[in-house]
Amino acid sequence: MAETPDDICPRPDVMPPQTTQPLAPPLYTSAVYRCQDIEQAEALMAGQSAGYIYVRDGNPNADLLADKCRQLHGAERAAICASGMAALAAGVLSQVSAGDRVLVSNQLYGRTAQLLITECGRLGIHSTVVDVCDLKQTEAALGEKTRLVVCETITNPLLRTPDLAKLAKASHAAGALLLVDNTFAGPAVCRPLSLGADIVMESLTKTMGGHSDVCLGLLCGHEKDWARVPTVLSTWGLASSPFDCWLAARGLSTMALRVRRATETALEAAEFLATQPKLQAIYYPGLPAHPDHAIAAKQFGGQFGTVITFTLAGGRAAADAFIKNARSIPFSPSLGDLSTTLSHPESTSHRGLTPEARAALGITAGTIRLSIGIESPESILAALQEGLTGIR
Ligand SMILES: *Cc1c(COP(=O)(O)O)cnc(C)c1O
Repeated sequence: MAETPDDICPRPDVMPPQTTQPLAPPLYTSAVYRCQDIEQAEALMAGQSAGYIYVRDGNPNADLLADKCRQLHGAERAAICASGMAALAAGVLSQVSAGDRVLVSNQLYGRTAQLLITECGRLGIHSTVVDVCDLKQTEAALGEKTRLVVCETITNPLLRTPDLAKLAKASHAAGALLLVDNTFAGPAVCRPLSLGADIVMESLTKTMGGHSDVCLGLLCGHEKDWARVPTVLSTWGLASSPFDCWLAARGLSTMALRVRRATETALEAAEFLATQPKLQAIYYPGLPAHPDHAIAAKQFGGQFGTVITFTLAGGRAAADAFIKNARSIPFSPSLGDLSTTLSHPESTSHRGLTPEARAALGITAGTIRLSIGIESPESILAALQEGLTGIR
């Protein structure tokens, strides 16, 4: 082709040849790949030969990230999805059909409960809500048609930690699979597959990405349960963006360091908060007074996560004063950032619940949720002290 200005387009076949490998992972933004001939195209489309052809069916940045996460969880298979919710949807849609029943924890992330109860309900997938921390209640609710049990490793905001090994055993005895949302723990704190869970889902938007600049989810599990996952991902449009995968892989490389630092500081902060008279309640599984302390100690190898919840005695006015005075802690209703952030569950994550339902979860106007970051412990404790001093 003649090289008029209109014809010059930086396609890989005209890029400078390279004799060395880049040290940092390249970003492959290409939405589609070039086939050598019809034979190769046919083999790729039929899944008979490995290779990329269309971004929704697979891309190198997603595969690189998936493989790292797969290793972290000791899983046979892993897939990256467009968000944590996309990963959950892929987990459910790949395992469950109309007429099946899903057993759902009564302390799930709001959108998860909505997906499982309302959206799946519309598709003829029925749900039963149980307290998965109560093994007897859970066993009694497991029925013939229960295909899936869904719970979280550490719940929001009371940080309850069900016994995953016992739940997995009970689920399997009833012929069901256990799907665990491991977002609040992450693989550095808990690897649910090693405790007997079948499928793990995580929002990489939180601690795994770690910089509040991606929206991604992870699904991982065993080969035997994976048959439908790639088709579900592609047909329901749940696949991820290469750029977000590239950023998340970068975040992942410091995840273990970040989590170690933040969990150490979280224990220190929880111990500090537990002595404060302006608090009515504190929830952190690392504190011996937490109802699940023993299970958490056994399941999490001595780490207890980066999230702390507490309730101020002075209700909304106290929460307001705390938020205004702890000025170096942004009020950002998410978690897992480099920086310590706080949230007010009543007005954000749990605002869709009735006051009675919130009360049953222990959430009142004075409840604050902290996500501890990697700043120095001294500066975090100082910010918490400022917040408390500001309450009159
Ligand atoms: C954030 C979150 C999700 C959803 O993840 P997105 O990446 O926001 O879609 C699911 N479960 C828990 C526990 C979460 O915190």
